[in-house]
Amino acid sequence: MIIIMKHGAAQGEVANVVARIEQMGCQVHLSEGEERTIIGVIGNGRPIDGEQLARMSGVERAVPVLRPFKLASREFHPSNTVFPLNGVSIGGRQVITMAGPCAIEDRDQLLDTARAVKDAGAHVLRGGAFKPRTSPYSFQGMGHEGLKLLAEARQETGLPVITEVMAPEQVPLVTTYADILQIGARSMQNYALLHAVGESQRPVMLKRGMMSTVEELLMSAEYILSHGNDRVILCERGIRTFEPYTRNTLDLSAVPLLKQLSHLPVVVDPSHGTGKWELVAPMAMAAVAAGADGLIIEVHRSPETAMSDGAQSLKPSRFSDLMSSLALVAQAVGRTI
Ligand code: PEP
Ligand code: MN
Repeated sequence: MIIIMKHGAAQGEVANVVARIEQMGCQVHLSEGEERTIIGVIGNGRPIDGEQLARMSGVERAVPVLRPFKLASREFHPSNTVFPLNGVSIGGRQVITMAGPCAIEDRDQLLDTARAVKDAGAHVLRGGAFKPRTSPYSFQGMGHEGLKLLAEARQETGLPVITEVMAPEQVPLVTTYADILQIGARSMQNYALLHAVGESQRPVMLKRGMMSTVEELLMSAEYILSHGNDRVILCERGIRTFEPYTRNTLDLSAVPLLKQLSHLPVVVDPSHGTGKWELVAPMAMAAVAAGADGLIIEVHRSPETAMSDGAQSLKPSRFSDLMSSLALVAQAVGRTI
């Protein structure tokens, strides 16, 4: 349920409503907008007497929230969530680009790529140290050594870094290196992991599971939010369909849909979304046109010899060309890059 306060309601009136909700054994989520204050009520499983709250002084109305996600919903939090990261804002007017290799393979590979994506204008360096591979015989990532290289690349380029955390027990280690924690598609419903990153002090990028609905994605975001971390970024990375020509089917309709349902920033991953480097640039441009707040793109200096996801990785020069094209699309939709 949300309680919409009257325009200009006094602080004391808001405090009384909050106190009453807490007495009912419910939790409160306050959203103080420019126009009015909205109080989100997170129930305890028992019915909430909305009429009683609606009669309180300063209250305009009480509206039941029928959707199963609350903290992630736009009803609870009408304005966009925007938060700073290393001098840029995520969720604001600027479209944020995260770029780098699928996996950290060695020092030169990572540092070369980091310099190249930085020169091209990327805002965040990506690189996997713990890799969730379908086969246990495929390269599993460099682990802790990879995280140290990521720290070196951050130091040299000044770019913040995003990297995947695969298990709750890895959260403390990965948090010491990463500026953004990535939850991979395969982990979207690992509730112990969502709980752990919900208690961490880092922004989290949550990728949509390969067979997950938009509502399931938002319910997973709700886990992170409900454990106290309000810096959650949603990521559309393609879902599995019957179409074999692409690795996944990139669901770009999820972008405006998520923006409608939720206040959280939305990032698109056209690399995993298509599996083919030739399709990455057109889908990246389409994502920006559709309202994405950011992109995450795999870049490799030698895609032919990449240890993972070479077929969907852009060479640095192609990434640089894409950044120029994206600037034009961003401008057309009132954004910057
Ligand atoms: C990745 O970003 O390299 C990755 C493994 O992505 P996903 O979890 O979307 O498959
Ligand atoms: Mn990858």
